[in-house]
Amino acid sequence: MTGVERAGSGVAAELLEASSRYIDEGIFEGAASVSPIDGRVGDFGGGVALVLSFSHVIAVEGGGGLALVDTSSPSLAPRARTALRTWSDAPVRTIIYTHGHVDHVGGARLFSDEAADAGEARPRVVAHEAVDDRFSRYDLTHGYNALINARQFGRRAALGVGQGDWPTEWVRPDTTFSARMTLRLGGEVVELRHARGETDDHAWLWMPDRRIICGGDFLTWVFPNAGNPQKVQRYPGEWALALREMASLHPELFLPAHGLPISGAERVARVLDDIATALESLVTQTVALMNAGARLDDVVREVRVPAELADRPYLRATYDEPEFVVRNIWRLYGGWWDGDPAHLKPAGAAELAAELADLVGGAGRLASRATDLAAAGDLRLACHLAELATQAAPASAECQAARAEVYRARRDGEVSLMARGIFGAAAEASAPGSTGGPTGGPTDEPALPAGPKGEGD
Ligand SMILES: [Zn+2]
Repeated sequence: MTGVERAGSGVAAELLEASSRYIDEGIFEGAASVSPIDGRVGDFGGGVALVLSFSHVIAVEGGGGLALVDTSSPSLAPRARTALRTWSDAPVRTIIYTHGHVDHVGGARLFSDEAADAGEARPRVVAHEAVDDRFSRYDLTHGYNALINARQFGRRAALGVGQGDWPTEWVRPDTTFSARMTLRLGGEVVELRHARGETDDHAWLWMPDRRIICGGDFLTWVFPNAGNPQKVQRYPGEWALALREMASLHPELFLPAHGLPISGAERVARVLDDIATALESLVTQTVALMNAGARLDDVVREVRVPAELADRPYLRATYDEPEFVVRNIWRLYGGWWDGDPAHLKPAGAAELAAELADLVGGAGRLASRATDLAAAGDLRLACHLAELATQAAPASAECQAARAEVYRARRDGEVSLMARGIFGAAAEASAPGSTGGPTGGPTDEPALPAGPKGEGD
């Protein structure tokens, strides 16, 4: 941490200069460059600061204390608080959750305890009304969330990015709203607006006097996390509508919960429009194919993000992927059935695999064909055969070794954190000495290659 600077210079200016350059010139210098989480504090003037973390913590002065927008994750909140306290020692009066994901709410306990230790009242916690239901769902599915989070983040969980241990306690909101709510911080009006997007409980903030939007996870400098394969339903179409509504307000400064802040009305508008257009395009293409009677397989194969948008520095698929978003659109407007009648009430996977292994002369044949296909670069097909081989002969060391090899190659060929996490966990489960559990991350994975966006997203 390099500490605090005043408005117009230092960290805030540096971050805005970087985002302007990346956006104006279309430069992408890697995920880490657009998603700093290093604990520095940017002072944007007028009593607004942003602590770079996972999620960021945005602080607004007013009303004899601070309002915080998001609180970072349990593991990174202590560092974020220390950084925040180099900027202001005013008590935290209000905490606003943009949504209930762990990397946004996980630090609330720390700030609440800080107030108690100082003899101050517990901060008021403001959120959309669905946040409380989310926490209850997390309690109901605690084991599942702990497993998928470890798999999604792989080694990052152990690095303290993402949550290795899924929380069991939540600071539940005490002030909730449905569509909109107006807060007063000192003399200033802050509007909270709800929209579904990454989650069903999302809120974003509009400060009309300063023309600032705090956008939560609606804009995160990665392709929108609207397809996450292991999580509940997401809302790409409504996400785009929210971005259009933000643009209609002509904000001059956009402070996201992940990634770089963006300044300049025209620049903010352009980014919002690009992301909305990308999402709208996926929705339109997918729905058109559904209406024409296509199977999910055809839809996944045909729908693409317009090429000119896919290369934007804020739309890289380093975290989630358009292919996964397409599946979520199918799930939102259709059902779980993919249109293949054999998949409606299928044979057991092991039964089908044994039948195919018999047909080709043994599971070993499937395994060796899998490694051949992988070597030839057809990793999608190779994974099917490797999976069939180990389903037909789970005790075969040869088949397990082939599966580990194929999924290692698959992981190395992927860019998104989601795909790398799942393929890496598969490789690990078939590696010699593995207990077969899904939580082991690949050991040779570089730190944070895919963009450090936090979870439970
Ligand atoms: Zn987030």
